[in-house]
Amino acid sequence: MNLRAKMQSEMASKALLKQAANYGLDYAEHIQQRPVFPTSNAMVNLEEFVEELPATPGDAEQILQDLHHLGSPASVATTSGRYFGFVTGAALPVTLASKWLTDIWDQNSALFLMSPVAAKLETVTEAWLRKLFGLPDQVVASFLSGSSMAIFCGLAAARFRICKNQGWDFNQKGHNGAPEIRIVAGQSAHGSVIKAAALLGFGIDNIEWVDCDDQGRLIASNLPPLDNNTIVLVQAGHVSTGSFDPINEICNTANRAGAWVHIDGAFGLWAGAVNKLSNLTAGLEKAQSWSVDAHKTLNAPYDNGILLCSDREALVSALQINGSYVNFSEHRDGMLYTPEMSRRARITELWAALKYLGRQGIDELVFGLHERAAQFASELTSADFNVLNDVVFNQVLVGFDWPDATTADFINQLQKSGECWVGGTKWANKSVVRISVCSWATTAEDVSRSVAAFVDARRRVTL
Ligand SMILES: *Cc1c(COP(=O)(O)O)cnc(C)c1O
Repeated sequence: MNLRAKMQSEMASKALLKQAANYGLDYAEHIQQRPVFPTSNAMVNLEEFVEELPATPGDAEQILQDLHHLGSPASVATTSGRYFGFVTGAALPVTLASKWLTDIWDQNSALFLMSPVAAKLETVTEAWLRKLFGLPDQVVASFLSGSSMAIFCGLAAARFRICKNQGWDFNQKGHNGAPEIRIVAGQSAHGSVIKAAALLGFGIDNIEWVDCDDQGRLIASNLPPLDNNTIVLVQAGHVSTGSFDPINEICNTANRAGAWVHIDGAFGLWAGAVNKLSNLTAGLEKAQSWSVDAHKTLNAPYDNGILLCSDREALVSALQINGSYVNFSEHRDGMLYTPEMSRRARITELWAALKYLGRQGIDELVFGLHERAAQFASELTSADFNVLNDVVFNQVLVGFDWPDATTADFINQLQKSGECWVGGTKWANKSVVRISVCSWATTAEDVSRSVAAFVDARRRVTL
């Protein structure tokens, strides 16, 4: 049988895709029973993937079987309720289902002509996001791989606008001789903000750092004098403490000076969509661009990031592209808003998440993460752990009196237990434990069970 005939029969028989669904469902069914981090056995078995590139076509079902038997056990159970590492988020069932379906479509959302459905869903979702965050009507959305890319695009748009205002077309003329642009950021800005500044050629050494308080919030009164050549980077949701910069105050100062404000709200911007948390993001509508992930707090699958920008012309110009075969339409052409040309139709998952949750569901989901984090902090405190931060959102930091090496041992014990997974970080020059509650699946019982694992790990290290 030739290769095409083989693949046609794989598609026609449906057995392969059904088997993929069965494996996936099997994985999901057992996710709560398995250790959160892979066992050492599962890790050793990964060596079986190491082989020469096959010379001839293989057996599709066997390939899938390898992936399930070797791969599934060596995955991290981020979709279970007891994964608190990094700020990952799980995936809402409806988003997974939508992804499965749209994977079969295999759409390229670069142009309306390439996928009318993706273009329509992007248009609808863009309007929903404006409403949800209370942003002005002229705000446009880019649907990207994540916040790193979103910050990059936001800064590119800012640079284009600042230069254009001074008669300098950055695309044509570039860096040499361009108006000098200042970047102002809080000391605790996320690494991806710094990366974007470096990638765009601003230079990390040129960032003007502003001191932060003990929760990692930029101190607005310490801002340097701003002007209309300045980009101010504001953080909504600090990766360790979950704290929010004083957005309103910074935006007021920046707006008076004509500076551009970008808000990195990778996981925290969603607080702005929640009644009981929106005080954290008060004034957010006064910024010029915002980056936020759907794959974190909103629990859409990877990779799903969003840039919102109030200056369509600057954004589209900064990301400009030409080509005689590129046919722009009078509808939305997604690639106008992204650095990439070809792009999967990731919008379906974001659209499905918002359509499924509605305002009330978003409220319940996001506030629920906060409630579980607050529960974590309170139960840990009762068990004589030292919670270091004000738990305003979904992050909890735990500190210790013992040496850093003991903390490393403690974290290791906890991770090895398979009961839950938390990571470590440095805070005030000490090693600490960092807990991030960001999965819809986390229950109050998951939190209590994890606190019990904390107690157990402490017993092991102090013995
Ligand atoms: C995760 C994160 C980012 C980077 O987002 P990606 O989607 O991983 O690219 C940026 N800023 C903050 C505050 C984050 O938590």
